[in-house]
Formats: sequence, structure tokens, C-alpha cells
Amino acid sequence: MTREADSPTLVWFRNDLRLRDNPALDAAARRGRPITPVFISDPDSDGDWPIGAAKRWWLHQTLSSLITSLHRHRSRLVILRGDPLTTLRNLVDATNADAVYWNRAYEPAAVKRDTAVKSALRDDGVEIESFNGSLLFEPWEIRTKSQTPYQVFTPFWRACCERPAPALPLDEPSLTLPDHWPKSLDLDDLELEPTIDWADGMRQAWDAGEEAADERLKQFVRQSIAEYDDARDRPDTDGTSRISPYLALGVLSPRQVWHTVRKHVNRSGKPDKRDAASAYLREVGWREFAYHLLYHFPDTPTQPLRDKFASFPWQDDDEALRRWQRGRTGYPIVDAGMRQLWRIGWMHNRVRMIVASFLVKDLLLPWQRGAEWFWDTLIDADLANNTLGWQWIAGCGADAAPYFRVFNPISQGKKFDPQGQYVRQWVPELSEMPDRWIHNPWEAPAGELDSANVTLGTTYPEPIVDHAEAREKALAAFEDIKSG
Ligand SMILES: Cc1cc2nc3c(=O)[nH]c(=O)nc-3n(C[C@H](O)[C@H](O)[C@H](O)COP(=O)(O)OP(=O)(O)OC[C@H]3O[C@@H](n4cnc5c(N)ncnc54)[C@H](O)[C@@H]3O)c2cc1C
Repeated sequence: MTREADSPTLVWFRNDLRLRDNPALDAAARRGRPITPVFISDPDSDGDWPIGAAKRWWLHQTLSSLITSLHRHRSRLVILRGDPLTTLRNLVDATNADAVYWNRAYEPAAVKRDTAVKSALRDDGVEIESFNGSLLFEPWEIRTKSQTPYQVFTPFWRACCERPAPALPLDEPSLTLPDHWPKSLDLDDLELEPTIDWADGMRQAWDAGEEAADERLKQFVRQSIAEYDDARDRPDTDGTSRISPYLALGVLSPRQVWHTVRKHVNRSGKPDKRDAASAYLREVGWREFAYHLLYHFPDTPTQPLRDKFASFPWQDDDEALRRWQRGRTGYPIVDAGMRQLWRIGWMHNRVRMIVASFLVKDLLLPWQRGAEWFWDTLIDADLANNTLGWQWIAGCGADAAPYFRVFNPISQGKKFDPQGQYVRQWVPELSEMPDRWIHNPWEAPAGELDSANVTLGTTYPEPIVDHAEAREKALAAFEDIKSG
């Protein structure tokens, strides 16, 4: 294949929608040729997990912001649709490009796709380079002494922390422009936004783009990181960083997170801040662990990691599933979480655990049904984190919660939302309930319900199950497979 000295480099953007700390873009810039940034929409290449509805909306906002950032460089984003190999081959021909660079993805379908694209384009004589743009440590770099993947978090994270610190983030490169731009679709042609606009709550809650992500992270580090370890379990406060939607599309890289946190801590010089930073980075470590597991155990988005859970007697109850999805279970903290998710495409981690435990252990519905609903409704939907979270709660994953740990939605509510502010925000029909009964309105005296304008079964549902009975039933079922 004959190429000219000014043949462009194609940079294939995927889950790395940023200009700063983007290793593929940086390497393309250092190559010194013109750069043609490209985004390819192809739901088929996501296998069983095509991007869900909420994240499609978020992807639209994020791509729009990336386009604006590229315009600052007088560059563009070439938007195409179709099978990535055919599309890239056509683009190589149309632009006379001699190299395609991208940052690696780790989802099983993406690994398969990228391996095929890499080998076919190399056979065509195109230079292919892939980079690590979304993890602190590659999944194959971290191994136990016996060279197996880790299945327990603490030694995994210790092994990560013993390695050299992640490299410093890269600056935004300057981009050499190509002479001609190939044909591109408009962003709207991808039809990522819903036709009936249900995204108002998400629009109010989230600002897309690198500037917003950077501001969110810096504000958290300046104002809240010192209290993170105590506040992170309180859904009634703004105690977590809320950067997951940015990490999910690579608007922010974990290296940027790591170094922003470390820089702040070093500057402050206070040991308590160092502890707070370690507690926070440890959570980012859970994300690394999730990718480690997904990479080494690619069946886990649908199959339990522990085989014996394959025979668990899950129930099949569409009505119960629907009530859980809509936030109509009659358990206020569960309903608040599910409604927060529906409205803003995000849910607090503590509440994710409570609602997931409720689905799996109180309703005995398969964890996969919950994972699918989260996948469709979270703007931070992430196959690795979602799989880890659901398998952890169900007790069938790596380093999982023991099967006998059943979250009590009443005591969890009382402990982590003591004045019921979180419930009042998301379940407004309970807003006038006194603190004492906000998490268990069915136990309130009739007079208290009347004064709070609550009629159970009419204005707010009766509990879908009795938690104590459901717990016993779940423990018996889990006991069966344990001994089976
Ligand atoms: C059932 C269930 C499903 C989940 N599904 C997802 C998902 O699809 N996408 C997703 O990003 N997270 C998921 N999580 C993990 C966690 O709830 C979110 O990452 C967190 O709530 C995001 O909010 P934050 O950015 O404010 O987190 P912070 O507490 O500020 O933490 C900072 C970052 O650390 C990482 N992190 C924190 N906790 C976890 C964790 N338990 N597991 C893995 N990474 C973590 C995230 O990248 C997060 O953005 C799930 C958890 C559960 C229990």
C-alpha cells in the first residue's frame, strides 16, 4: 500500500471522549502527521450489552462537548455508523490514512472486535497502535504469586499500590489538521437522544464535557475529600465525588483522578488528608478490580463466578420486578433509590447496595434482571462495575458479600438517612412523615399517617413483602445451594 508523507493518522474515539490525557491522541500528535478523529456508532459490536437508553442520552451530550473542544483546534469529529472494520477500511481509503490509533477497551465483545480489526488492518498494511487510556493498571499486569488473576480485593489493591505510581496525565496536544475532511454524519443522525423527552431530570443534574468533569473532581477534592470516609455512605449528603458518569465515557481518566488527589494531599501536607485520599483512591481501586475480573472472567456479566449459584431457585415475578423498577415496593429507601435512578440516571452507592439486595434477597429475583435494569437506566452504566456490584450483592462473585448478609431496608434507612431527607426528596408523598416513621410508615399509628396525608395502599404502597419473612426464605434458599 502506498502512502504519502502527510497521510493522516486516524484516531478512533470510543470510551475515551476527551482531549486531555488521551494516550492515543497524544501519540498520534507526536507522530507529526495530520489527525482525523473518528467516532463509529455500532450497537452490534457491543454484543449482548448495547448501550442503554440513559447512557445514550449522556453519550449525545458528551460527543457534543467533544465536538466543541475539537472545534477549538479547528478540528472535527468524523461521525460514522456501521461495522467498525468495514467503516475504518473505507475511511482509510477515503483519507489515505496509514495508521489507526485507539485506546483499549476491556469488555469481552470489544476485545473480540478490536482483535479482529487490528489483525485485518495490519494485513492491509495499516499501522495500528493501541494504548491504555482507561485504567491505572492493565488487567494482565497484576497477578498473584502463582500467576493467576486476583479474586480478592485487598491483596489485589495492595499489589497495585506496590507497583510504580501511574504515569502523570498527558497535556492536551496540538492537532495538525488534514487537508480534506471525509464525509461525516451529524451527531443528531445517530438518534441517541430519546424521541419523547424524559431526560429533563438528567439534564438538570449533569453537565457534560471535560471542563465539567474537571471542575466536579477538583471541587470534590477541595471541599469534600477530607470527610469522604464518613460521608460516603450517606445518600442525604453530597459526600461522594459523582465522577462515575465521566469515567464511564472516558471524559476523565483514572490517572487524572489519581494525580489530582495526590497533588492536593501533598500540597496540604496533613496526614488525615492522606488517609482520606487513600480511602477515596481505594474506591477507584474497586473499579480497577472490576475491570481485572471482567477481563479474566468474561462470562460474568451473565454467569455467576461461583458455579453453584447457577442452580439457585430464583423466582420469576414480572409484577414484583415492575414495582421495584418503578420505586413502588412500599420500602421508602428502596423506592427513593429507584426513583433517583429513573430521574437523574444515577444512584448513590449505599442505596445501589440496598436496592440490589432487596431485588435479590427480598424478592428472590435474579441479579441479572437488576443488572439489566441498571444498564438501561444508569448514565454511568459500566459493564465491569455493574457486574461486580450485582455479583457482590448476590454473593456469587469475587470477594462477594456472604450470602447470609441481607440488607435490612429499614435499619439501613435509619442509619444512613436518619432524618429521611433522601427519602423526602425522592418520595415526596412521604415528605410530611415524622423522622421516626419515614422508613417504616406501615408501623406508624393511624393518627401520624393522617397528619402526614399518607394513606397506605392509596397515596403510597403497602410493603410488597414482609422483610423478616422474606429474609428467612432467602436464607433457606441460599442454605440449600450452599450444602448442595
Ligand atoms: C449493584 C451495583 C451496581 C453498580 N453499577 C455501577 C455501574 O454500572 N457503573 C459504575 O460506575 N459504578 C457502579 N457501581 C459502583 C458504585 O455504586 C458507583 O461507582 C458509585 O456510586 C459512583 O458514584 P461516585 O462517582 O460518586 O463514587 P465515589 O464514591 O466518589 O467513588 C469514586 C469512583 O470510584 C469508583 N467506585 C466507587 N465505588 C465503587 C464500587 N463499589 N465498585 C466499582 N467502582 C467503584 C467509581 O469509578 C467512582 O466513580 C455499582 C454498585 C452496585 C452495588
